[in-house]
Amino acid sequence: MIIEPKIRDFICTTAHPTGCVQNVKNQIEYTKKQGKKEGPKNVLIIGCSTGYGLASRIAATYTFEAATLGVMFEKPSNGRRTATAGYYNTKAFEQEANKDGFYAKTINGDAFSKEVKEEVIETIKRDLGTIDMIIYSLAAPRRKMDDGTTYASALKTVGETFSNKSLNLRTNEVIMASIEPATEEEISSTVKVMGGEDWKNWIEALYHANVMSEHVTTIAYSYIGPELTYPVYYEGTIGNAKKHLYETSNLLNTMWKEKGLTAYVSVNKALVTQSSAAIPIVPLYIALLYRVMKDRNLHEGCIEQINRLFHEKLNGEAIVDSEGKIRLDDFELRQDVQDEIKKRWELVTTENVKELSDIDGYWKDFYQIFGFGFDEVDYSQDVDLEM
Ligand code: NAD
Repeated sequence: MIIEPKIRDFICTTAHPTGCVQNVKNQIEYTKKQGKKEGPKNVLIIGCSTGYGLASRIAATYTFEAATLGVMFEKPSNGRRTATAGYYNTKAFEQEANKDGFYAKTINGDAFSKEVKEEVIETIKRDLGTIDMIIYSLAAPRRKMDDGTTYASALKTVGETFSNKSLNLRTNEVIMASIEPATEEEISSTVKVMGGEDWKNWIEALYHANVMSEHVTTIAYSYIGPELTYPVYYEGTIGNAKKHLYETSNLLNTMWKEKGLTAYVSVNKALVTQSSAAIPIVPLYIALLYRVMKDRNLHEGCIEQINRLFHEKLNGEAIVDSEGKIRLDDFELRQDVQDEIKKRWELVTTENVKELSDIDGYWKDFYQIFGFGFDEVDYSQDVDLEM
């Protein structure tokens, strides 16, 4: 079958297996060039198949020579439709890792559920003994509780309606967008889905099952961003959830430090991923950010960010800010970068968006998430959907 991208709103409903293989190979190549380092030997990555989680898995394998166990929520092909990109990425990663002699297994299921936690624990006991690092990189639209109740996360403001420029992802036009304030219920549901409760549940389950090593590090990913996007992100529903995630890191450190656990929140850079494309206003900010950071030679993708995390920020004692957070958004939030973005934000219109922002780079990254747009891949070739 010849596969083409099919875009619906902010998502591509097809994925290209050969392109996903290429994506994974490129990330492995980049990591190999950064060199190896002593580090955790058995790593669990929750949300391992795309974006920051996939980059973490690749970087852990090829930096620390770690065995990795991943958790993801992805769909295989049904013979007619393609699998999801995360599914192809993971197959590609497992093949490459196994070929290079590394253990890599993946559990495809709902990370919020008790069953998946139990399956992970059984797998650790059977194959690895204990885990030394746990990366929590979930980005989920909803969470189903064990009693069947479902909470949905909302991307809304807290308090007042917020209007600002945004990118119409269908037409590339710069438009005005308004984001409505969330109800109390939407705020608390978003915290349920994207806050720290499930992270804590994971740590408790792993601890009680005796599968954490004596010294274990756990890292959850977060975002803050510039004041420009505060109403929609940092001070919005998702920001509330991220504050809860941070409070959970403090709680985990209080509860388990003596038992050898250290918990961090790492604040990462804004990047095009399946999740960030869904947030209004943010894609236009990302397109401007890419331009300004590329012009200054500061641009990083997920794999560059996580390599920097492992090589520079987690050297013995982690390098953290005054609140104990790891800051991989340090380049993004540099004064000169943000001043330039502010200037361009005022000026940007449909007519000049190509000049002022890196909208082409935005779309290139977007397509590549789904395995499209790699020069090395011949997209006119028939491919096997099952890979
Ligand atoms: P992503 O959409 O690329 O990845 C999400 C991962 O979660 C996938 O592996 C997916 O399979 C998995 N997943 C989703 N629901 C699941 C479920 N119920 N059970 C098991 N797995 C599930 O997202 P991303 O952008 O890489 O985000 C990962 C983390 O990084 C999030 O916490 C996000 O807030 C944070 N972050 C993202 C950005 C950004 O700009 N993209 C910036 C800073 C921090």
